[in-house]
Amino acid sequence: MELPNITILDEKDKRLRLISKEVTFPLTEEDKKNIKYMLDYLKISQIEEWREKYNLRAGMGLSYIQIGIPKRIFVVVDEVEENKFENYILINPKIISNSEELIYVGEGEGCLSVNREVEGIVPRYARITVSAQNMEGKPFTIRVREDLSIAFQHEMDHLNGILFIDKIDPKNPYKNANNMREI
Ligand code: ZN
Repeated sequence: MELPNITILDEKDKRLRLISKEVTFPLTEEDKKNIKYMLDYLKISQIEEWREKYNLRAGMGLSYIQIGIPKRIFVVVDEVEENKFENYILINPKIISNSEELIYVGEGEGCLSVNREVEGIVPRYARITVSAQNMEGKPFTIRVREDLSIAFQHEMDHLNGILFIDKIDPKNPYKNANNMREI
């Protein structure tokens, strides 16, 4: 597989702080191409052989602003079993309901725009229901849980200019961990 030609913005880039804009339909050819590139990039990053070949970090999700375009689009690639991948493309996503239960990634969240180790945990809803549009503009809802729920919330934060590191209190990076479930 060929590594798609995209550049992922680093956390220092101020564009990551923009509030992305609602998407109108039909999508442009450029948007369609970029969505495919983001999905391909994530898949390549999750296959060890390719990850090493291209010297990448593994990533599960990318928001459109991470390649510099402030439109409300994100993609997630989930490896459901060895070398079998499920793609998610969400356009104009909104959380319409969430669990009370909170969870966090025990080893810490990661982000392809944050190239350093960050200590601490980020509270996320264990389950969410999201409404969004597909690439044709057709509305749908999707319910996700556990790591997918975290990935979706992480990416939706990007659309509002928020990085996971903003949600960690550096003075108390494991704050309230006892009230949440580690995954
Ligand atoms: Zn991220």
